[in-house]
Amino acid sequence: MSPTALNPVPGHHDSFVLPSTNDNGHANGVEAKVHASARRTPEGGLIKVESDSTVYGEDGIKAKFTDRGAEVVKGADGKLTVKKTEKSFEFFTKSKVGRVGLMLVGLGGNNGTTVLATNLANKHGISWRTKDGVQQPNYIGSVVRASTVRLGTDPETGKDVFVPISDMLPMVHPNDFVIGGWDISGLSMDKAMLRAKVLEWDLQRQLIPLMESVKPLPSIYYPDFIAANQADRADNLIPGEDKKAHLDHIRADIRKFKADNDLDSVVVLWTANTERYADIIPGVNDTADNLLKAVESSHDEVAPSTIFAIASILEGVPFINGSPQNTFVPGCIELAERHKAFIGGDDFKSGQTKVKSVLAEFLVNAGIKPLSISSYNHLGNNDGKNLSSHKQFRSKEISKSSVVDDMVAANNVLYKTAAELTAESGEVNKKGEHPDHIVVIKHVPAVGDSKRAIDEYYSELLMGGRNVMNIFNECEDSLLATPLIFDLAILAELLTRVTYRENAQGDFQPLYSVLSLLSYMLKAPLVKPGTDVVNSLNRQRNALEQFLKACLGLEHSGDLLLNTRVW
Ligand code: NAD
Repeated sequence: MSPTALNPVPGHHDSFVLPSTNDNGHANGVEAKVHASARRTPEGGLIKVESDSTVYGEDGIKAKFTDRGAEVVKGADGKLTVKKTEKSFEFFTKSKVGRVGLMLVGLGGNNGTTVLATNLANKHGISWRTKDGVQQPNYIGSVVRASTVRLGTDPETGKDVFVPISDMLPMVHPNDFVIGGWDISGLSMDKAMLRAKVLEWDLQRQLIPLMESVKPLPSIYYPDFIAANQADRADNLIPGEDKKAHLDHIRADIRKFKADNDLDSVVVLWTANTERYADIIPGVNDTADNLLKAVESSHDEVAPSTIFAIASILEGVPFINGSPQNTFVPGCIELAERHKAFIGGDDFKSGQTKVKSVLAEFLVNAGIKPLSISSYNHLGNNDGKNLSSHKQFRSKEISKSSVVDDMVAANNVLYKTAAELTAESGEVNKKGEHPDHIVVIKHVPAVGDSKRAIDEYYSELLMGGRNVMNIFNECEDSLLATPLIFDLAILAELLTRVTYRENAQGDFQPLYSVLSLLSYMLKAPLVKPGTDVVNSLNRQRNALEQFLKACLGLEHSGDLLLNTRVW
């Protein structure tokens, strides 16, 4: 019998062994140096806040924080009255990270294999030769591991002091994730890595012995949800058509993975194929109870990804959806709320959309008016093959389409509101004025994982002028998505350790179930029902930075830099 991710061959591969330090081997005849993005935080943490409102206890960090905002009321005369608001919070961040498991749905795919390979190469200090010289492993592209925040100024030099996000609070190091998961394709991970054609051969060659004994767990396959062209790789399936039995099976897999690997916590993340949208049907998936009943009766509209989400919620482990489909049907969100479990999604924001969320904001905030944004993609990997089917493409088209909506809605100087358009035309307008926006995706096998994203921004300038800006963005899809997967898992695990209370009253409680703080990494961020989605990449990053600072009791020291503005 082939060993599975749950049953590693003893002594053969050690992707499930937690090393105490980075093991810098001399693989390939060259000593691997630890890249700064893979460095460990010093014992006891890098940062210590000296303040009465921040208390370092044995179990964690307790911090007082005042959330300052403003309420704006529009009067009958159209004038705005602004009232300052203040709310006091206390945050408690448990400092023990423990052993963390990362279970990927779609482990044998391009992203899944690249995540495991990156973890192993960093953990074992495997460097490799390319035509440009020796390459060291790293976590470049991870906002947690490879980007910094401004903490304050050095009183002696007056210079800004920056720290990596990973040093702000106790977080799991990506080398330490115990990685496993499921795939409908039963190929062992070394062969799946070869199939993916993402990494250089000299690296793959050294990873084969570490990956050949890892085999994805069998998974759920409902052919109607992914493209028909995926059928030929579906050879590793949980038998039967009983969806309740499938749910129980996945729950048992999570429990076994946790027990077998002596884990303190687990994060489950969907990086499997994009599914079609599930129809939202009253009585089927609109409430938590109806959704559970729909699973019992094996209703056609319950998708595999929703089964994984429900299993994770019921097991109390965070579930993140890295694909665009509507895994989180209303009943699934209600179920997460009921169990105070954590969910996050949807769809990794790795390339085109990330650039768009910056460029569109730049244009609108510069007072320039985008009239149309036309986006084309072609890619040759299995993701592209799956997306060549209309229903799966439609899921992607939806998640890519709404990215500029909030920036446009925020500027009623450039864009007329729905009310203005309704008043002008006499016909009800719901969306308001917005740029034309199209998204096209084509499968071009020859280019493999190297995706090309081509965007044209066509905008209105002063006095009727026009501006055309073209972007040609070419990069390995999975080398962009992999660091996001690490970020999502690291932050989701951290957020399970943060509790809060308001006005110093009552017990500390967990954060709200939908982890919208993960929005930076996600194309169509899932937010608390009834609240607005923020797509601006800068605002998403600010939110994350401010939250981490709030957990340390620090006010957001933004870019006011008053000392440079006064005498
Ligand atoms: P991939 O096709 O290489 O991998 C997906 C894997 O999922 C395959 O191995 C497939 O066998 C497996 N799978 C399908 N259905 C499954 C199920 N029910 N259970 C378990 N495994 C299943 O794709 P990829 O390039 O790794 O991308 C993964 C997902 O991430 C896609 O949905 C893609 O749209 C999404 N995504 C990727 C990026 C990126 O790579 N830059 C960005 C955004 C979103």
